[in-house]
Amino acid sequence: MQKVLITGAAGFLGSHLCDRFIKEGFYVIAMDNLITGDLKNLEHLFKLETFEFYNHDVSKFVHVPGKLDYILHFASPASPIDYLKIPIQTLKVGSLGTHNLLGLAKEKKARILIASTSEVYGDPLVHPQTEDYYGNVNTIGPRGVYDEAKRFQESITMAYHTYHGLETRIVRIFNTYGPRMRLNDGRVVPAFIGQALRGEDLTVFGEGLQTRSFCYVDDLVEGIYRLLFSDYVYPVNIGNPDEITIKDFAKEIIKLTGTKQKIIYKDLPTNDPLQRQPDISKAKEIIGWEPKFDRNKGMKRTLDYFKEFSEEELKKSEH
Ligand code: NAD
Ligand code: UDP
Repeated sequence: MQKVLITGAAGFLGSHLCDRFIKEGFYVIAMDNLITGDLKNLEHLFKLETFEFYNHDVSKFVHVPGKLDYILHFASPASPIDYLKIPIQTLKVGSLGTHNLLGLAKEKKARILIASTSEVYGDPLVHPQTEDYYGNVNTIGPRGVYDEAKRFQESITMAYHTYHGLETRIVRIFNTYGPRMRLNDGRVVPAFIGQALRGEDLTVFGEGLQTRSFCYVDDLVEGIYRLLFSDYVYPVNIGNPDEITIKDFAKEIIKLTGTKQKIIYKDLPTNDPLQRQPDISKAKEIIGWEPKFDRNKGMKRTLDYFKEFSEEELKKSEH
């Protein structure tokens, strides 16, 4: 049986990846220190004999007994309010954590895929973003801790490929949403849905003219799965190119939830990227991938997930 180690497994994307690899017949070793994740995301897997969980901080030396065929490194705070709250841990997991996992991959002769991000493009001056754009990041700005950790992560991964011949893959993930996002993680999808369900006004930052392009989680997981088993070592964008302004997105959520609330405007966070849209030509060409879920279908599924929360849980998620 093929064995895969998934870090950040108790988080949003990590838990969906665990599901996919279990479904494909892999033995899954899940690792997480639960700093932003939740074991609830994995509880349905604990009874399986082909699943085990390690509570471990991957910024410290990582050891896994026995053979390992694949590693997916997804551990890292991922939402702006998380990485602003824990900036040093964010830098460490992207740098030291990645180094530890590359070392483990080398020892086990495993193939490793690392989760990079559209944030490596910073506040992009090229639109839509292609993989050959070098980016526009403020190293010392509040988002720098995340962006630069991810840029370093790509560099060290490429160095291990070049100098040690390690089998590496790099996915640049654009804004992804779906069930199991944390309701209070501050990202726009759970923020707006939480506000609508609690009967609060929706907080749009700035004038809401900044854009994002939202990808449903099942599409992302399919892209990652295909990339891992391809033979392409350079970064590949995975995201949904359907771009929308944040103000229009708020209007969509108001319509979808049927809330009577209105939009209110708050200050735009420092260095909030003005526009973001993936160019996915490379993903189409190399792994034959493109998203299947439009925003309406994906958002309905996401809303159904959050509708299951009790009033108390919704209230607790206020921030
Ligand atoms: P998440 O916060 O839900 O999950 C991250 C998980 O990593 C959490 O369970 C957390 O406890 C764990 N973790 C953090 N530091 C750790 C450490 N030192 N050791 C062990 N575990 C640790 O976030 P997510 O949205 O699932 O993001 C997962 C990965 O995907 C991250 O690397 C993120 O940078 C990347 N990514 C996500 C998106 C997105 O839109 N969701 C976009 C771009 C990149
Ligand atoms: N945003 C907003 N209101 C909120 C939360 C976020 O207007 O309550 C905006 C935020 O300023 C950004 C966009 O929504 O322009 C996406 O934010 P998110 O944190 O989800 O992702 P990122 O900025 O990392 O792409």
